[in-house]
Amino acid sequence: MSVAASDSEKTAAPSERAPLTAATSLDEARGIDLHLHSSASDGRLTPTELVDLCHAKGLSHIALTDHDTLAGVAEARERCAHHGMRLLCASELSCQWRGMTIHVVALLPQGPSAAFDVSLVGLAEARVRRAEEIARRLEKLGLDDALARARAIAGSERPLGRPDFAQALVDAGLAADRQAAFKRYLGAGKRGDVKTHWPALETVVGWIVEAGGVAVVAHPLRYGMTRRKRDLLFEAFIGAGGQAAELVSGYQNRDTTFDLSRQLAHHELYGSLGSDFHFPGGALAPGTLSPAPRSHVRPVWAHPALADFVTPIEPSPTEPSLAEPSST
Ligand code: AMP
Ligand code: MN
Ligand code: MN
Ligand code: MN
Repeated sequence: MSVAASDSEKTAAPSERAPLTAATSLDEARGIDLHLHSSASDGRLTPTELVDLCHAKGLSHIALTDHDTLAGVAEARERCAHHGMRLLCASELSCQWRGMTIHVVALLPQGPSAAFDVSLVGLAEARVRRAEEIARRLEKLGLDDALARARAIAGSERPLGRPDFAQALVDAGLAADRQAAFKRYLGAGKRGDVKTHWPALETVVGWIVEAGGVAVVAHPLRYGMTRRKRDLLFEAFIGAGGQAAELVSGYQNRDTTFDLSRQLAHHELYGSLGSDFHFPGGALAPGTLSPAPRSHVRPVWAHPALADFVTPIEPSPTEPSLAEPSST
């Protein structure tokens, strides 16, 4: 993973930056991160801690994108209101396409529809069944009580993910670190990579569109696909109603990002940006992104559905009214 030296320039104080509007291009965007995790899924920080960190990093517009859940959104929304930040209701949905696990970020400016909430219940159940299957497989590979170990690592009743099993493998001495645990047991094609429980790509894109949201292919460069295969993915995604893809996800090679921008432009997909931040202390922080190239790709925040998200916040005439409890 190469870290560009120029990345320090992205921490300019909010007051030095032009406010984000629908007209802000991808290469000029600052203060925005539309891919972040909290302890509602496999992130380490609570939604409140995460939003505080985003604020400290000078971010003004964020989306909380926990895996297959909206459980952290209400808490994050309250904290964003406290800081005068904009939050998009969102989630990173697991699905499958041609035997591969694909992640689709659901940006839900209108919040979830009733049907979307029901779909999330289904995904949570799929995650439970998958965790049981992963545990069975890892037990055969020598990890006793795999499910209980993963649950203890999660430290809450939240749905389990592969990172919990990775840590369990490390703690049991079966892998040197989490990376090694993925490489040997949990990564694509390994025994612990159970994907048969996820719905089809077209299905989850349909849920998002039905809820008035924008569907975004998450980290398109991280599936180990050829460019041609990615064309096919984008075609299937667009055919199902998908509208966008992440042009930049954390750190990316400059030439590869440029090529991806051409591919998004070709498919007329909107472009999104996100760090995919999970925990402090690693290479990534909220807002840590390789620069986007100049391109013809329209930013996802220029999508009509996201117009309110980038409307500048009116300075309130009274004290921070957003922090006050609203009538219930
Ligand atoms: P799951 O949603 O349970 O399939 O887990 C996927 C998550 O595992 C991703 O969102 C990452 O947080 C993490 N992950 C995936 N691959 C790796 C890897 N090679 N090393 C470390 N963490 C990974
Ligand atoms: Mn994750
Ligand atoms: Mn992902
Ligand atoms: Mn993610």
